[in-house]
Amino acid sequence: MGAPTKSPETPAARLVRADGGSEPTSQNVRYVVALADGAEVEAVLYRGDTLCVSSQVGCAVRCPFCASGANGLGRHLTHAELLAQVDLVRARPEGAALARVTVSGVGEPLHNLDAVEALVHTLRAQRIAPSLTTSGGSAERLTRALGLPHNGLTLSVHAGTDAARARLVPHAPSLEVLFETLHAALPSLSRSRRRKVALAYLLIAGENDADAELDAFLARALPLALPVHLFAYNPVPTSAARPVSRAQFDAAYARLREAGLVVRMSSTARVEANGGCGTLVAVRAARAV
Ligand code: SF4
Repeated sequence: MGAPTKSPETPAARLVRADGGSEPTSQNVRYVVALADGAEVEAVLYRGDTLCVSSQVGCAVRCPFCASGANGLGRHLTHAELLAQVDLVRARPEGAALARVTVSGVGEPLHNLDAVEALVHTLRAQRIAPSLTTSGGSAERLTRALGLPHNGLTLSVHAGTDAARARLVPHAPSLEVLFETLHAALPSLSRSRRRKVALAYLLIAGENDADAELDAFLARALPLALPVHLFAYNPVPTSAARPVSRAQFDAAYARLREAGLVVRMSSTARVEANGGCGTLVAVRAARAV
């Protein structure tokens, strides 16, 4: 997929570039979107029907494996800027079948919850299924987000011990706060709402792939009976983090499943180098905070 001949734009944003990636079989298209103040964020279209959008310029959580948080937070995106990413992609031929939007790109959605909540309602009204991925925000914001009419909320855990959690997801709630909040909030959700909640575990070599770390995660996750998305890591130039081997990935998958968790492997589309957790980049405007 090359650059568009004419870049669509909205009052809030303009499409700068679309890139189908270097893999000939890639089903993903990565977009660079310029905001009115000159800041840029990225969005990725997966398989033609699911768009991952950014919620902030940069991210304050600063996970060390992530390109998005490498420079900290620039600013929140407005509701109009969130929606502009959707409108710009839908205006292109490859975005015509868009059915789902996930707020899983650059930024922590729960740090910008008012705008994200407004987007969830707007997308619902347009019959597009909204979902989000969060590192936890705060107990109060997580509880509020769980109750939104989303089509999926995935909580990035990535650790079984607080030491690994503090290292990998540094400016986010501890595991104790996360799991206490889930234990308190899940029973008040309907069964169909609970089915929309999942945990995520991104395997990183030497960081959280040891059996003891996985077993500590199991001990916390099993009582909740939530599905777990097991992700392979996509290396980014801003981090020294490295993916596990395919054999190590399969062994971790088997360990979690055999203990009784419902585990879903990340799809082929999300392990391609052209998209996925922690691979998106934000460029600040010269006058951004
Ligand atoms: S992985 Fe998510 S929460 Fe962590 S720094 Fe990147 S965008 Fe922020």
